[in-house]
Amino acid sequence: MTLRLYSTLGREVRELRPVAPPEVRIYVCGVTPYDVTHLGHAFSYVQFDALRRYLHYKGFKPKYVQNITDIDDDMIMVSKRQGGRPIPEIRDENDAIFRADLDRLNVLRPHVYPRATDHIPQIIEATEAIIRNGCGYVVDGDVFFEAANFPGYGKLNGVTIAELAKRENPESKREWKKRGPLDFLLWQRTEPDEPSWESPWGPGRPGWSIECTAMSTTHLGSQLDIHGGGSDLVFPHHENEIAQAEVMTGQAPFCGFWMHNGMLQLEGVKMSKSLGNLVLARVLMQEFDPDHLRLYLLSHHYRENADYHSYGLPALGARYEQLMLAVRAESAPAEPSAVLRAKWEAAMDEDFGLPQALDVLDEAAVRVLHGTAEPGEQQLLREALSVLGFAFAGSPGPANGHLSPDL
Ligand SMILES: [Zn+2]
Repeated sequence: MTLRLYSTLGREVRELRPVAPPEVRIYVCGVTPYDVTHLGHAFSYVQFDALRRYLHYKGFKPKYVQNITDIDDDMIMVSKRQGGRPIPEIRDENDAIFRADLDRLNVLRPHVYPRATDHIPQIIEATEAIIRNGCGYVVDGDVFFEAANFPGYGKLNGVTIAELAKRENPESKREWKKRGPLDFLLWQRTEPDEPSWESPWGPGRPGWSIECTAMSTTHLGSQLDIHGGGSDLVFPHHENEIAQAEVMTGQAPFCGFWMHNGMLQLEGVKMSKSLGNLVLARVLMQEFDPDHLRLYLLSHHYRENADYHSYGLPALGARYEQLMLAVRAESAPAEPSAVLRAKWEAAMDEDFGLPQALDVLDEAAVRVLHGTAEPGEQQLLREALSVLGFAFAGSPGPANGHLSPDL
């Protein structure tokens, strides 16, 4: 069966056809490590981890790149609040906590884990190329991207430039310098108390979206197969990434599939630090097994906006126990069931339909425990749960002591 995935670009489900098979080039927007990460981050990275594992199972060779945004307004703000504490120190502290949480959840480490501050020369080169190709302009030490000069601007959102311009643009600072309302910063001159780098336009630091463009193209080339991130990044971040990359390289499409995970809310309200309603994976894992939390996160389709309730994990307890017991049950040796494999893959292959795929596995677990399973059903159950990253099923990954398995 072929794997079909939904792309936000075009809003349709299509067969995955990588640029250079069997390699699948994946870039997922990482965190800005200015503070602790919450359950919404775990949702995103566990989903993309399962996707990477499933691609490998299907015979592809995923190359997974996920960045760290270690210079931006938030990092600078936190550094100032902590009395000028060096940004690398804040970054390393929060990143270590983030990494430890994901290791416990058996999330594979990225093949490349680039930091924005290690890519300043590439960011400057990208900005120069965009100016050269007619879409960048300089005003008083700032460099802007001129959205109106890129005919495809708005294609990811599926709306016209005029419609986009009505939305609130999170990058609206320095409004007076801009030629058009949707223009955004590629490079910004810095205040005297901010970290800065030398550039052809004077001392400054990168704009936000150009960082991801420089890192993705440096490590994956000018064309990607899958670009992932939260649905809150579609505009302006990912719209900007497409514009920058296609102007810079002259190649289109920059990326075949734009996969956006839904937002995880807390009892109907968006989780945010300012509202004080963050749920942390680390705190939940004090009470529940990491695999139990993984099951909870994977039981939602990746595109769904999920609502976290305090009863969500306890309610899944019986289901989790049942899967574990079925995997550990004694059974006669057999080849994994082809019939069950076909059912499981059919669900997975249609836009990564994990909720349906897990239902198929739940039913098999019940049969295994009741002694009514066909030969090989238990073997397939174990294999499928391992592909989905469950440590109890023997899945390779940090939770089982494999820091960089060949996946
Ligand atoms: Zn990004």
